[in-house]
Amino acid sequence: MGEELQGRCACGGVRYRLTEAPMFVHCCHCLDCQRQTGSAFVLNALVETARVELLAGAPARFEMPTDSGRPHGIYRCPTCGVAVWSEYGGVAALRFVRVGTLDDPRALAPSVHIYTRSKQPWVVLPPDVPAFEAYYDAKTLWPPESLARRKALFG
Ligand SMILES: [Zn+2]
Ligand SMILES: [Zn+2]
Repeated sequence: MGEELQGRCACGGVRYRLTEAPMFVHCCHCLDCQRQTGSAFVLNALVETARVELLAGAPARFEMPTDSGRPHGIYRCPTCGVAVWSEYGGVAALRFVRVGTLDDPRALAPSVHIYTRSKQPWVVLPPDVPAFEAYYDAKTLWPPESLARRKALFG
């Protein structure tokens, strides 16, 4: 795993590679994600910033308004504007990489569906993937190796 996890923006100015599989993959159905993507949900692969290798370009940060007041920066190609990842809560060591920008977006399926209370009614969730009305507790859901990586980030 890992060698296929390359991605890019639409114009190819930004290229990246994940040097390890993500710790977890969120499919978020919240209204902010719907607005920010113009779609029904966002697919975010949670991975350490140190494991996102930039191969070309320099994504530019755009601040998003948030209800919580905690920062959310979306990083976009400065040329074509495509979002490649987010940083939430000022945690610079963690990236939420947009799965749809991978060369093979089918490489990463959601580990969890969150904020399903605002999901589009026509989105039918698979019965074998955990789903939550709002957020969830990573400690009870993440596999042990991912929790260990998380602990290495946050202590
Ligand atoms: Zn671009
Ligand atoms: Zn969301």
